[in-house]
Amino acid sequence: MSDIFKIYRSEQYMKKILILGSTGSIGRQTLQVIDFLSEKWEVTALTANTNIDLLEKQARYYNVKFAVIKDKELAYKLKKRLRNTDIEVKTGLKSLEYVAGLSDIDLIVNAIVGAAGLKPSIAALKAGNLLGLANKESMVMGGSIINEILGKNKGKILPIDSEHNAIFQIIEDHEQKEIKKILLTASGGPFLNLSSEKLEQVTVAQALNHPNWDMGNKITIDSATMMNKGLEVIEAHWLFKQSYDKIKVVVHPQSIIHSMVEFKDNAIMAEMGVSDMRLAIQNVITYPKRYASPVKTLDLFSVGQLNFVRPDFNKFPALRLAYQAGKEGGSFPAVLNAANEVAVQKFLKKEISYLQITQLIEKVMHKHKNINEPQPSELFAVDRWSRKVAREVAECL
Ligand code: NAD
Ligand code: MG
Repeated sequence: MSDIFKIYRSEQYMKKILILGSTGSIGRQTLQVIDFLSEKWEVTALTANTNIDLLEKQARYYNVKFAVIKDKELAYKLKKRLRNTDIEVKTGLKSLEYVAGLSDIDLIVNAIVGAAGLKPSIAALKAGNLLGLANKESMVMGGSIINEILGKNKGKILPIDSEHNAIFQIIEDHEQKEIKKILLTASGGPFLNLSSEKLEQVTVAQALNHPNWDMGNKITIDSATMMNKGLEVIEAHWLFKQSYDKIKVVVHPQSIIHSMVEFKDNAIMAEMGVSDMRLAIQNVITYPKRYASPVKTLDLFSVGQLNFVRPDFNKFPALRLAYQAGKEGGSFPAVLNAANEVAVQKFLKKEISYLQITQLIEKVMHKHKNINEPQPSELFAVDRWSRKVAREVAECL
């Protein structure tokens, strides 16, 4: 295990960081950590999908070399706004891949949401870069492609997703064969204690009201269905190379333990702290060293107690579907992920109900014929197929 993650990072010089998705929840928190660490880091490039106002503000403040906005029309506007600076404005997916593939960058944080993050992740690793990965969907969809690139000793990944960052911290110096189980903690989301009947009525506003974490809309809905944990099971499978029967979900409503690992000798190790993503983000930025951080200290006395509950696979069928897709392997995780992205967007637009999110995903999975060991082009085709079928199925729900 240590071989996968061992990274030597010199402290001698000013380091360069690039943030993909800098206008989102993880992107903004990454910049807060950089501000806190002050003079050691230089921000080289920032990217956004459509949030031109915030991207302009960030690009000016950090005086970046490149500002990439995905939307082509907005890029024209941004160019005009930034014409009195030396900042180069770029647009489109190719430009995201271009900046991710720059050669003199010390860390690339991928904080894009959804499968759109996969191609930039691939570009970063192929260029031999160190990738701080928040974008779990790229690992779910393209775990096999990513591991193949890593296997050629190209690039490295440090996980930012809090559970995976915790697991990474715990197993860092241990060999794979020493691990008995990965215990992935889950808050259970806002509907943990709601009866199954009441789930029929839940609104978008209720689903967006997460008890412990303040995150982007997509992951907040994924937390309400527990698909987030399902995606994380698949992410853990690829990152830590563990079989699915060794990855267990433990509902832990306080979100104090960010995850645990049970070793061969039955010792269980946990990583704990307050629910603040900046803890994992800073760990990745300063790895392997630790410095003071903007994150609050955990007061165990005010927490009082920690609870653990078995996950309810009937109430949260997304978990069952994710294990099923993961175990089937091949193209199934890509189908699950794409159908989920469509379903979540439809739920946010109030076109389908909360319970229909997982019904829709299950129907799309039923229609899919698995492709074993898919090539990258096949995976992208499956992603498109799944989105198309999901939109068709949604019409007849
Ligand atoms: P967010 O919606 O707040 O931000 C997403 C960012 O990606 C924005 O900067 C947006 O401009 C950009 N983006 C969106 N669609 C894009 C596209 N098609 N192409 C290029 N850029 C695009 O999301 P977030 O909550 O910050 O989550 C980002 C990723 O991190 C997700 O994969 C999520 O699962 C993961 N994650 C988030 C948290 C959290 O606390 N927010 C925790 C763990 C993991
Ligand atoms: Mg997580």
